[in-house]
Amino acid sequence: MSVRDLIILGTSSQQPTRFRNHGAYLFRWNNEGFLFDPGEGTQRQFIFANVAPTVITRILISHFHGDHCLGLGSILMRLNLDKVTHPIHCYYPASGKKYFDRLRYGTIYHENIHVIEHPVSEAGVVHDDGAFRIEATFLDHAVQNIGWRITEADARKFDREKLLSSGIVGPQVKELQKQGQLMKNEKLVLLDEVSSIRKGDSIAVVIDTRVCPQAIEIAKNAKILLCESTYLEEHQELAYRHYHLTAKQAAQIAKDANVRELILTHFSARYLDVEKMEAEARTIFPATYAAEDLKVFPFIKE
Ligand SMILES: [Zn+2]
Ligand SMILES: [Zn+2]
Repeated sequence: MSVRDLIILGTSSQQPTRFRNHGAYLFRWNNEGFLFDPGEGTQRQFIFANVAPTVITRILISHFHGDHCLGLGSILMRLNLDKVTHPIHCYYPASGKKYFDRLRYGTIYHENIHVIEHPVSEAGVVHDDGAFRIEATFLDHAVQNIGWRITEADARKFDREKLLSSGIVGPQVKELQKQGQLMKNEKLVLLDEVSSIRKGDSIAVVIDTRVCPQAIEIAKNAKILLCESTYLEEHQELAYRHYHLTAKQAAQIAKDANVRELILTHFSARYLDVEKMEAEARTIFPATYAAEDLKVFPFIKE
């Protein structure tokens, strides 16, 4: 298994601060590099993170407010400069097609990369290749805005000991997997006796929304939930008015969705210290961590 981690490239909402770049999140998973919401300055954040942008295979834009997409043009330009040969899949809300086009073609450059667009107009599965799937849901943010989930396919795991004692070896293992049962030494061996299903890992990204059932649904039982936390609970009025969440509300979503770990991001520039966000959320959901620019979260193993 290759690297699995979530690299935080920026954590600010709306306007950057001295210490927080516009949001952007790179999730490296096996051979894929999912880039979520490249805000302004994302290209440079890659340099600080010491990661080559060429790892990007898919770009997912939640919505077309500037803090979630202003870096799209420069990232595509950069991938052209780097002459990447693999396709770059781009997912975004279909209603924002004109913004996508403007960002993509905002400057002069020689286009040689292969961009495959996936405008999303309906909630549901937007990609499934048998190894993993991407699901989209529409959140509550005044403009069309997508929450994402990436889920690895379930896999069957054999118990070596049980397999050995059953006497099944080599190509017979494949045979057992295919047929579900196999006669061995005059004994019927059932597939489920010697193996079990390992549920695929999953990560959900919910950025820019009020509290809504879709946010909980898309994050159900995910290992990691990356969630916006623009305000502290003392500013819940503002959060509601601007279609955002407080740290406490994000924690409640994590709890209701039964996720393993909650990572908070998209902080308002009014807060210097985001540890308060973490502390507030932990009163409801202890496994909460406030993201920081350039922090790396390894994907949770079992
Ligand atoms: Zn935002
Ligand atoms: Zn927004």
